Amino acid sequence: MPNTIKHFIGGDWVSIGSATSPVYNPSVGEVIAETPLAGAEALDQAVTAAAEAFPAWKETPAIERCRVLFRLKMLLEDQFDDIAKLITREHGKTITESRGDLRRGIEVVEFACGIPSLLMGETAANIARGIDCEAVRHPLGVVAGITPFNFPAMVPMWMFPIAIACGNTFILKPSEKVPLTATRIGELLVQAGLPKGVLNIVHGGKEIVDAILKHPTIKAVSFVGSTPIAKYIYETGARHGKRVQAAGGAKNHIFIMPDADIDNAVKGLTEAAFGCAGERCMSGSTAVVIGPAGDKVVPAIARVAQQLVVGATDRDPNAQMGPVISAPHRDRVRDLIGAGVKGGATAVADGRNVTVAGAPNGFYVGATVLDGVQPDMTIHSEEIFGPVLNVIRVNSLSEGLAIQSKNPYGNGACIFTRSGATAREFKHNANAGMIGINVGVPAPMAFFPFSGWNESFFGDLHVQGREGVAFYTQQKVTTTRWFASGEGDIWSK
Ligand code: NAD
Repeated sequence: MPNTIKHFIGGDWVSIGSATSPVYNPSVGEVIAETPLAGAEALDQAVTAAAEAFPAWKETPAIERCRVLFRLKMLLEDQFDDIAKLITREHGKTITESRGDLRRGIEVVEFACGIPSLLMGETAANIARGIDCEAVRHPLGVVAGITPFNFPAMVPMWMFPIAIACGNTFILKPSEKVPLTATRIGELLVQAGLPKGVLNIVHGGKEIVDAILKHPTIKAVSFVGSTPIAKYIYETGARHGKRVQAAGGAKNHIFIMPDADIDNAVKGLTEAAFGCAGERCMSGSTAVVIGPAGDKVVPAIARVAQQLVVGATDRDPNAQMGPVISAPHRDRVRDLIGAGVKGGATAVADGRNVTVAGAPNGFYVGATVLDGVQPDMTIHSEEIFGPVLNVIRVNSLSEGLAIQSKNPYGNGACIFTRSGATAREFKHNANAGMIGINVGVPAPMAFFPFSGWNESFFGDLHVQGREGVAFYTQQKVTTTRWFASGEGDIWSK
């Protein structure tokens, strides 16, 4: 009988409710745990614990709050390999990719360790005669984060380290598909000495998310997931008076100019399209090849895709790409490839029938390259979230930019070229918030905002960096005048 995950509320590991959802090891298709599907009862308990912890935590000096994060960072480093294995086990990405997932999360903890400086406010002397003014950042109170399956370590760590460093208390609702990594992080926070109730973890699906969105005590909600749910979270949370940042899905375009260094472009394309089996909001899922670049890029990327070793990442160190998250998702990806081929695209590498020796029940799709994709095809307008690269051939940069700009998403876009002028034109005109030049779609480091545009983001302040600090704080502006003894005493005159 697989182990049922517990909620972490007020410093205790507790069971609430009886409904569960299976957690798979996608490499072999075996159930390895059960996630409890809790509702309002569990959330109420977590909110009570977080609200009780808030007054003392907000009064804890920022330097003391960040000492807990320093200890968390050291514990994460000590257990780095072990946690990476856990991520691979419940998610399916390769160990190298899991290490990257965790490393990017740790970088946010490191950023949050600088909170004493990040919280420093602004002052101005003599805004009028004898009057000074200051703006100081205060925490919001109880805040919540709802996270997706695809980065079990990094995405929760986009949120809670900054939130708690700012003095808030936090409720994390991880994806029901990958609860094990979040549970391990909770255990490490206990070891790091985080006071009870400052971070709480509740599990579930729509029911508990709806309870979060409506709970009057929760001041702000961070969300990362698919676009339809991000939109719903933004609208529902805002309607209930919450500050919301909601990052959604993506369709990222990689432009390859005829003057590009083709070897490096194909390398960038390979990592961007097939890294994490394409299950990344920053995956490079569409190559826009300009003019003669197409005839060089397509055979090269097709060869790489055909040779990419798909395997059971939890046991095979030679696996270069792992499974996708679930059987229904594998079937959806295969169906979308089929629809693309039916619609006129040519599968120059086709991963639909890939099998992995010794893992017949794993959720595998091989690396796939579809050439001759037209902009109006579903495979271009919808996020596939699998190891599928669309190739759109165009004659000029402006033709490609017109296609990219009409796409509803706007996370990332990048270009491979040797021309500074072309790169500059692309950077200026691409309709996306994170741009790469001669690098595959680049996820910004922790001290920059993760800046999706259009249907890839709903809200104003993005996760990470100074925007993350602004999101989790409110400013208090104080205007001060001190009278010298007797000055201003108009009644005695
Ligand atoms: P998802 O939207 O299915 O789930 C995300 C979270 O929302 C989970 O915690 C889930 O339990 C909850 N949820 C699911 N359905 C819900 C509903 N009907 N009502 C309320 N809550 C619901 O996303 P996923 O499949 O876990 O993750 C993949 C998606 O996340 C992709 O679209 C990917 O592009 C996106 N993503 C975006 C970013 C970004 O920064 N923009 C980063 C990572 C992932």
